[in-house]
Parts: sequence; structure tokens; C-alpha cells
Amino acid sequence: LNHLERDKLTGLYSKEYFFYQAGQVLQGDPDTKYDLLCSDIENFRAMNERYGREQCDQFLSMLADNLPERIPGLVFGGRIGADVFAFLYHHQEEDWTAVLPAHYSEDEMGLNCTLNYGIVQDTARDVTPEVISDWATLALRQVKGKITEHVAWYDEKLRKMQMQELQIVEYADAAIRNREFQIYYQPKHALATDHTGGAEALVRWIHPEMGFVNPGMFIPLFERNGFITRLDFYIWEEVCKELRRCKDEGLPVVPISVNVSRLDFAVPDLAGKIAELADKYGLEHGLLHIELTESISGESPEQIAKVLKELHDNGFLIELDDFGAGYSSLTSLNTMTLDVMKLDMSIIRQAAKTKDYSILRYCVLLADGMRLKTVAEGVETEPEVAALKVLGCDYIQGYFFSRPLPRDQFEEYLKEHAA
Ligand code: C2E
Ligand code: CA
Ligand code: CA
Repeated sequence: LNHLERDKLTGLYSKEYFFYQAGQVLQGDPDTKYDLLCSDIENFRAMNERYGREQCDQFLSMLADNLPERIPGLVFGGRIGADVFAFLYHHQEEDWTAVLPAHYSEDEMGLNCTLNYGIVQDTARDVTPEVISDWATLALRQVKGKITEHVAWYDEKLRKMQMQELQIVEYADAAIRNREFQIYYQPKHALATDHTGGAEALVRWIHPEMGFVNPGMFIPLFERNGFITRLDFYIWEEVCKELRRCKDEGLPVVPISVNVSRLDFAVPDLAGKIAELADKYGLEHGLLHIELTESISGESPEQIAKVLKELHDNGFLIELDDFGAGYSSLTSLNTMTLDVMKLDMSIIRQAAKTKDYSILRYCVLLADGMRLKTVAEGVETEPEVAALKVLGCDYIQGYFFSRPLPRDQFEEYLKEHAA
């Protein structure tokens, strides 16, 4: 076997060769039943940042040695993603999933990690092995984050859910054309001036049958199938149009933050394209802020750092969203060009509940030390506002001042609250 057939690190088949071989077996032997299993490590990106590449590589290679011998009837395995393995094996009636390791601890392996598995039993023959492994990974996503379950099967219920998602996805293009996506604006209150200092653009979907759909439902879906990039470009342009209109009509204008998903960072010359948009509507670039939102998958930290710098050099302000919500690590702060740190609402909620503001104070200090402005998100009560004032937080966004507002109401709000 040459090195193209084998993955260098783990010795398993490479992705391409695994799919090729699986296709050969499934087509060549239609009377034998086969199962396909995919394994996935939870939060692998965070693990890489925490333990370093070398140690994570070592772990992957150990796992690739260790997993196959636990699976009876194995035909072969491949590495089909950075931390995703696929195994083809002879169909099993009995449930032997208890032998699949759910967790490794620092004592055993030098690192903490959780594993999830998805299984497709008696694989179909009218689809490619790529599709079958997609089904397996869809199944394993159902147990992600669960403590008591770590194995899931692709079954009828999942198939139905997948069809529903497919319908939403197929309809998404038409939804843009029908202008079903609307933008709500949530004010950011500047504590120094006691006026509105900006706002965040948040998408809403007014679906003809489902009605008002929250972004929490469709954004993750669009992040998985890549449609988020199309939608985000649409939102950015709508925001530019709106800013232009307000300027033309002599209405008050504040900088608007738009959300940028990690997936968007793969778009070639993203900074140039956003600059082009702003220029098309004759807007100073300072009127657009970029909120970097976290999502499960996406571009490498290096690529993100590069694009952030380009955006910043083009005059767009960069806001790091959801700071403190888990994924963002302190090391990544150093590599990114940032202007604003948005403190996740979980930090504020926790502080208000326990009346212990020390973490919040530390975050503001950290931001100050890095010369970043701070925005506190999800602020709902007077005592929260008072505490944030004392801590020296710059902006407050949350229901206390205003919920996200439709365009017309936001316009009225600004007339009263803009400087
Ligand atoms: P996010 O960027 O962290 O947005 C803040 C979320 O907190 C919004 O939820 C907002 O409505 C909600 N929120 C604001 N103030 C409060 C408060 O005082 N209390 C509580 N409980 N919640 C508050 P929303 O609008 O449902 O958006 C959810 C997420 O969807 C956003 O989180 C963002 O990550 C994503 N999203 C929204 N619009 C877009 C978009 O146009 N593009 C992309 N890529 N993502 C978007
Ligand atoms: Ca945001
Ligand atoms: Ca946020």
C-alpha cells in the first residue's frame, strides 16, 4: 500500500481510499449485510488548543489502534475527517456498543476527551459510502453533549427529521427571494454618554407556514449546509441599504454590527467583498462592525486571524462575540485583531445570581489590558446595569434597554435615544 491509500498519522485508510474501497465491497457483495460506524471526538478544536497538536495527534493514533480491535467483524477503517474515523464491518444483530469507549481521562491518556459514535445498520446499496457516513455522523450528532448516551443509530425518526431539514434547506433560496428574512435591530447603550452607541442586526425568518422562526433553529442548519454564507451576505447588504436610506432621509444613524459565521471566513477575499458592499452604498466602513460568532466547524485559527486583520485594516471594527461562553480560549485572543469584546450573557447571569462579580471584573480588566471596548450582552435588570457601570463596561445590550426591534420601531427608538 502506498501513502495515498493510508493516512500517515493513524495508518487507517485515507478518506478517498476508504470511500473507494467501501464502494467496491458494497457493490461487489450485494448479498452480505454490512454496518458502518463513525466515531467523533467532542470539541476536538478546543482539545487541540488546550493540549497542543502533538499530544492530540498521539491520541488520534492511539485511538486508531485501539478502536478496531473492539469491533467484531471489522472489514477495514478509514480516517475521513480530522477527528472522524469510519469503520465498515459485517452486520451484527447483537448490541455490542458497550465496548465502545465513551471517555478517556487525563490519568489514562494524558487528556480528557469524550467520544460519540453513529451507526448505520445494514447499509443501503443505492447510495454512495459518502452518503452512508453522512447518515452515521448525523446520528452521532444526536448524542453530542449527552452524558449518559454516546452511541446513536440512523433510524426512521432521524430519516424523517433529515427530510424536514432538507425541505427547509431546499426552500431557503426561495425564502430570500420572497424576502421572508427580516432584520431586527437591538440597541447597544453607551454608558459613557447614556445614548445609543450602536446596534446589532439579528435575522428573523417569517415563514409562510411555520410563522416566526428563531435563528437558533435555522442558523445551525445553514451552518452545516453552507447556506449561512448566502444568508449573511444578504443580511449585510440589507443593513447597508438601511443605513443608506437613514442617511438619505436625515434620520439618526449608529454603527450596526453584523454577525459573521466562521464558515464565511472561507470566502475568498471576504474583506474585499464586504468593503465593496459598503462602498456600493457610499458608507464609511466604521459604520459596519463585524461580530465573529462561534460555530462548531469552520476555518482554521490562522485563516480567521488573517481575514480579521484584513477586515480591520479596511476600517471595519471587529467584535468578539460570546466571550466566556466556553469555546473561546485565552490563547486565541492573542492571535486575533480585535476592537471589542462582547461578554457572553451567561457570565452576567451567573454574576447576578451569585452576586459575585469577580469573573466579570476580570473580563473587563482583561479587555482593558488589551485595549478592547466591552459590550455586556443579555442585560435584563437594573442591578446588573449598576454593577456593570461600576466595573467600567462600555456598552450594554439587552432586554433592560430594548429587545431586538423591527426596522420601523428601531427608527423611532433612535430618534429618542441616539446622541
Ligand atoms: P448572538 O449573536 O449572541 O445574539 C444575541 C442573542 O441574545 C439574540 O438572540 C438576542 O435576541 C438575544 N438577547 C439579547 N438580549 C437578551 C436578553 O436580555 N436576555 C435574553 N435572554 N436574550 C437576549 P437571537 O436573535 O435568537 O439570535 C441567536 C443567535 O443566532 C445569535 O446569537 C447569532 O449567533 C445567530 N444569528 C442571528 N442573526 C444572525 C445572522 O444574521 N447571521 C449569523 N451568522 N448568525 C446570526
Ligand atoms: Ca452576535
Ligand atoms: Ca452573543
